[in-house]
Amino acid sequence: MYRNVLASLKCCVYASTATQKMEALTIREDTRVNLPQDEIPSSWYNIQSDLSEPLPPPLDSSTRQPVNPQSLERIFAKELIRQEISSERSIRIPEEVREAYLQIGRPTPLVRAKRLEKFLRTPAKIYYKAEYLSPTGSHKPNTAIAQAYYNSQQGTTRLVTESGAGQWGSALALASAIFKLKCKVYMVRISYNQKPGRRTMIETYGAEVTASPSRETKFGSSLLDQDKEHPGTLGIAISEALEDTVTHENSRYCLGSVMNHVLLHQSIIGLEARKQFEAIDVEPDIIAGCIGGGSNFAGFAYPFMTDKLKGRSNSRFVACEPKAVPSTTRGVYTYDFGDTAEMTPLLKMYTIGHKYASPPIHSGGLRYHGKAPSLSYLINKGYMESVAYHQNEVFQAARTFAQTEGMVPAPETAHCIKFVMDEAIKCRESNESKVIAFNNCGHGLLDFKAYEDFQTGRLVDYEPANIEVETYIK
Ligand SMILES: *Cc1c(COP(=O)(O)O)cnc(C)c1O
Repeated sequence: MYRNVLASLKCCVYASTATQKMEALTIREDTRVNLPQDEIPSSWYNIQSDLSEPLPPPLDSSTRQPVNPQSLERIFAKELIRQEISSERSIRIPEEVREAYLQIGRPTPLVRAKRLEKFLRTPAKIYYKAEYLSPTGSHKPNTAIAQAYYNSQQGTTRLVTESGAGQWGSALALASAIFKLKCKVYMVRISYNQKPGRRTMIETYGAEVTASPSRETKFGSSLLDQDKEHPGTLGIAISEALEDTVTHENSRYCLGSVMNHVLLHQSIIGLEARKQFEAIDVEPDIIAGCIGGGSNFAGFAYPFMTDKLKGRSNSRFVACEPKAVPSTTRGVYTYDFGDTAEMTPLLKMYTIGHKYASPPIHSGGLRYHGKAPSLSYLINKGYMESVAYHQNEVFQAARTFAQTEGMVPAPETAHCIKFVMDEAIKCRESNESKVIAFNNCGHGLLDFKAYEDFQTGRLVDYEPANIEVETYIK
């Protein structure tokens, strides 16, 4: 009750800010919750500060000793390396980055999926954070903007990266345009061919995009010599981008997921969501998201996880992945390489092995063999659960979502929508009005080939028979 009064007071404050004058006078919990622009968080949240022990460090693959952070300076911007190993609880968001966040539409709304609830006849309340509203259609600009900013500050003139489905490539291309940097994207060949829209979007922002494997690196050339039509993988594209970075002056590499600093920047999602849930006096019982490398789910979940780590919350955290790339549901928690050519340090994570040939599922963003070290740690310690689905059931859920809520989700996002719908149906059967929240991390407006394949019965459900992961460190 007291919280309700507070909440309505807050709503009045929100409603009185200049930019939000047209907002309704009260925030209703059954519609969308908007945060005014001046409520955008001023710091990111670093979960490393709240873990009871330090995360297992990245190891140099030849010495098996912890990597010296300085040795990474040829690859990454200095400030990003500092953030990677930082144990500060909050890290200030630079003014230029906040400015760019406002420009791309932050804070994003928290939306109640009312018509989906009705369709499912569930007493559960379903909320989603609308990250798909960014200009490129996903959460990825949240970190791309920060990475481009820090690089521009230290005098980098060119950014190099890889992209699977093209979401990350387009986000970094956008961020490079904002901070006036050149940008080069190695895009996994199968996606390059399957998603010409993404490729063109990257070029529209002024970046250069090359199908990987390519003739532009020694590693790419060696693979093309063996197979002219090599479809490529994310691991191969990472290897090419790294090789390109170290062979070009003033170039630095950017990664769209997995690393601590990426998850840190994505915490903007959960920090906003917390404020939004507080404004309507609602607490989520279940917090869900899809995991490729783990960044969008971590970004959404960690600002809530902090309470669970301190024993102040019983919320369930559920990570959703494809059965075709079952890193956390069937993989091993061990040290593995982040790329195919074994150029990266060894990372302790859930992996299905860096040589795993991911099947050509349409969720390009979920084809990565490993998962972020902090997310892997939390799953391993039981703070988080994970589930896996086949792509046909996932697209079925996506269609239902589109027909009820109106927005067409990215195939990646649809993995957690499938989970959310199943949970909501369980709530109907047990008559429990749980609050289920998920990160709506991307739209599928450039994925209609995938929807077409589903609707014409051409989607194959893949599942590896055996998974073999090499052990590098006992
Ligand atoms: C990149 C991407 C993912 C997977 O990456 P995470 O780091 O796990 O977030 C999931 N969904 C969408 C829409 C993406 O673009």
